[in-house]
Amino acid sequence: MRPFSYTAVREPNAAIASVAGRAGARYLAGGTNLIDLMKDDVERPTLLVDINALPFSAIETTPERVRIGALARMSDVADHPGVIRDLPSVSQALLLSASAQLRNAASIGGNLMQRTRCAYFRDVAVACNKRAPGEGCAAIGGVNRLHAVLGGSDHCICVHASDLAVALVALDATLHAHGPKGERTIPLRDFYALPGATPEHETALTPGELIVAVDVPRSPAAANSHYLKIRDRASYEFALVSVAAGLELAGGVIREARIALGGVAPIPWRARAAEASLQGAAPSPQAFARAAELALQGARGQGLNDFKIALARRAVVRALSTVSA
Ligand code: SF4
Repeated sequence: MRPFSYTAVREPNAAIASVAGRAGARYLAGGTNLIDLMKDDVERPTLLVDINALPFSAIETTPERVRIGALARMSDVADHPGVIRDLPSVSQALLLSASAQLRNAASIGGNLMQRTRCAYFRDVAVACNKRAPGEGCAAIGGVNRLHAVLGGSDHCICVHASDLAVALVALDATLHAHGPKGERTIPLRDFYALPGATPEHETALTPGELIVAVDVPRSPAAANSHYLKIRDRASYEFALVSVAAGLELAGGVIREARIALGGVAPIPWRARAAEASLQGAAPSPQAFARAAELALQGARGQGLNDFKIALARRAVVRALSTVSA
């Protein structure tokens, strides 16, 4: 690990001032992703600004929404009664992530900012456009069983690592950020960038901006939501494929559907066409199979990961079946 400086702050503006304008400065919360990447020499910060004392860890419910502080720990959010009641898919996505020890340490903001698990990204001896723009992508033509079937480019085919982000994108969550230019809100659906020709550009945050909270609107579909995660082993593993699904049912038909996929794309993948196909339909295996086809429309495998397309279709059907029961 390379030498770096460390400072702890107690006030948001001090944190932002410490990071803005210094390219090598990084916020430190739980550190469960950042410190790993520093050990691998992938992240090379010159200054870590410890933000754990900032007042952003509350979890609050109102009739309209659940607000989750960015410094709330994954385990606290997963176990919160309001989250379990109003956003079950969010609680499930968190409990299916990482390990108990990691969930106790890792923050919500850090979870949303975690980097890809692409093995080539984490190995500085091989080419990776995300880590070193212009180097090439060792995953294309390499061992890409875990890589994207949707949303990739000729420059990067990584998948996004966060389960939580998939559940939140399905529920139209909004981020609150503080930065050098003040405060702003960012819909999570607009937060993550597809790789295109610039896979090093990952989010809508500008230098020095800090996520302080996540708002999730309450809705019947959110209260009747489910997170299904398919992985190579039963715990402490990232998704091969995951599905966040929510349905509002009334009078025997679907009034609203929410579907997002994980493990298949460089960003949490909202399946809008699949959702639209279900609106007004009676829940049925045929309707869910049609939605699954639409959710994977345009999917293209790299050879080793072709299986993800069929697996994701079946996962969509299973997740929808669960929330329609
Ligand atoms: Fe890097 Fe993306 Fe290629 Fe992985 S898939 S090696 S993260 S450019």
